Amino acid sequence: MLTFNDLIVAFETLGLQKKPVIAHASLRSFGFIEGGADSVVTGLNHTLGAFIMPTHTYKTMVTPASGPANNAINYARGQQWNRLSEPFYTDMPADPMMGVIPESMRHWPEFQRSMHPILSFGGFRAEKILQTQTLENPFAPLRALVESDGWILLLGVDQTANTSLHFAEKLAGRRQFIRWALTENGTVTCPGFPGCSAGFQAIEPEVRPFTKTIKVGNATVQALPLRALLIRAIEIIKKDKYALLCNRSDCERCAEVRKM
Ligand SMILES: [Zn+2]
Repeated sequence: MLTFNDLIVAFETLGLQKKPVIAHASLRSFGFIEGGADSVVTGLNHTLGAFIMPTHTYKTMVTPASGPANNAINYARGQQWNRLSEPFYTDMPADPMMGVIPESMRHWPEFQRSMHPILSFGGFRAEKILQTQTLENPFAPLRALVESDGWILLLGVDQTANTSLHFAEKLAGRRQFIRWALTENGTVTCPGFPGCSAGFQAIEPEVRPFTKTIKVGNATVQALPLRALLIRAIEIIKKDKYALLCNRSDCERCAEVRKM
């Protein structure tokens, strides 16, 4: 059984004291932790400087009847899901795909969240980082993080959870998409929507030389400097325009990137 003290020791072993960090986590991967998700948040909060996690909300998404071509979206088929969409509001729970830890963070008094209706981030001591996000530039917080020599923390998840690789794709000139979201002020257009992350694990051997890895309970915990990850990922994508794409035959976004 792990306690939050074990987590603090682990995060300190990775050398992340007072560092700005974007974290991605699977609570289940650790095995049993006394106090559950709250203990992970306490451990992160005690150790790190500014830290953020994705608090994305996909249920705000709507599909217009028509829109730009080559957008990896079937406008006709998308109509049937529109009735399930909900307008974004600041306290909207993060999508279950984000895991339970961002949800636990949301209930802390010092929690702050950016305002993107699909691709929000939330965190502690990260007001300036979160404020950089705009509808046009959903990954601006990652630029702010790299400018502060930030780190990526993968807690029991692999590179397919690493949002920073989407930012690398954008910086490498890879195709971005347009999506739409419901808000309290109506439907808004959200450019800069990323591709698919299902093929991202292929980068693991490339970033291993500068990845710090430890075991915490049953979980593999990895820390990577964001700048080094971006540089390596951009090199790889520029060298091979199909790099980090997935192999699913029905993946519309990867198919669209391949067509480009
Ligand atoms: Zn794909």
